[in-house]
Amino acid sequence: MIDQSQLLRLLGLPQIAIDRVEITDAGVLEIHVHSTEDGAQCHRCGRRITEAHGLGQERRLRHVPIFEHRTEIVIRPKRYRCPSCHDHPTTTQRLDWYDPRSAFTRAFEQSLLRALINSTLEDVGHKDAVTPEQLEGILDRYVPSGIDWTALPALPVLGLDEIALTKGHGNFVVIVSARVEDSLSILAVLKDRKRASVEAFLRTIPKPLKRTVRVVCTDLYSGFIGAAKAVFGKHVAICADRFHVARLYRDAVETLRKQEQRRLKRDLSKAEYGTFKNVQWIMRKSESDVSAEERRIRARFFAHSPKLAQAHALSQALTDIYDMPLSKGQAKRKLGGWMRRVKNAEVTCFQSFLKTLRRHWEEITNYFTERRNSGFVEGLNNKIKVLKRRCYGLSNLRRLYQRVYLDLCGYRVFAR
Ligand SMILES: [Zn+2]
Repeated sequence: MIDQSQLLRLLGLPQIAIDRVEITDAGVLEIHVHSTEDGAQCHRCGRRITEAHGLGQERRLRHVPIFEHRTEIVIRPKRYRCPSCHDHPTTTQRLDWYDPRSAFTRAFEQSLLRALINSTLEDVGHKDAVTPEQLEGILDRYVPSGIDWTALPALPVLGLDEIALTKGHGNFVVIVSARVEDSLSILAVLKDRKRASVEAFLRTIPKPLKRTVRVVCTDLYSGFIGAAKAVFGKHVAICADRFHVARLYRDAVETLRKQEQRRLKRDLSKAEYGTFKNVQWIMRKSESDVSAEERRIRARFFAHSPKLAQAHALSQALTDIYDMPLSKGQAKRKLGGWMRRVKNAEVTCFQSFLKTLRRHWEEITNYFTERRNSGFVEGLNNKIKVLKRRCYGLSNLRRLYQRVYLDLCGYRVFAR
């Protein structure tokens, strides 16, 4: 059996001595301790006080398990009376190893924080018998809430991105990211995507840092573009990510594909329609991933739908333009040619995309000079998508995003 001094070393807690150890019927290791420190700091005047005034209420603090036993430290904190303050208030002694607001020792809190890496609040809650609310309380205390602007040397590339917290529409948050010295950082998670919210945040960037912004990578949401232009003025390039533009023109093809599939399902025999197996997945694949068999299925479908064949070819042509190492001027000429092709084509599915292209011509063509900078937002998006899949159904998604996902999954988070 280990003796008390060895147990004390195992606990790793300073400033205490062990009175007795019990194992309850439920297998909980209860370690009753007392403080070996003397004195406190008067909570009113701040003076050091040493006039003992009994003991406070018994506290039970969960600690890291010992030999797989749930371990609780039981302590009655010392209290002291202040002789200087006029009504002699009493103050409870504070010890370094626990926060008076918490039901856990700091060591246990830190082990929970480590357990949260790549896990959800619910996962960790179940495993360690801690409520999600308690975990959130820990995150509140440990994850800093303000941006330390002085930690940022410069902000050459900013990213603005909206993310849907729940499936369907509405409930968006905005992720403000930055590439700081080649590592991706999250500057803020804004509670909604209103232009005013984005603008208000961008205005909190201190002036010297604001002057270092060169490019803002964003999607084609006019609220973001408007906010960035209002705050940074003309000398900052606004760049529409390829990722966001591609989503728009691919969605146009998708819509047409659905219409055409409905039409063919109605018009063709069941056997004939059956030969288009999985065509919806094939259409979404990038060209290099399409197998020979899939090409044959697609070709059969296109034979029945010349419109979709044309839309697909146009979409592919646009992707090809994006893949070319073009200057901004060259890209403008190529895109102009593509727009003429679309206007002369039979398909009408790109009409609203053409409007977007004209309205955001500069932002979209800026991509070709800022290609290198723009990639990081796309990387972030993909990462978030993967992470998000795991967390549907959790109550407080917004907070989860801000803290657990982004912070603990390897991004530096400067703010909530
Ligand atoms: Zn005092």
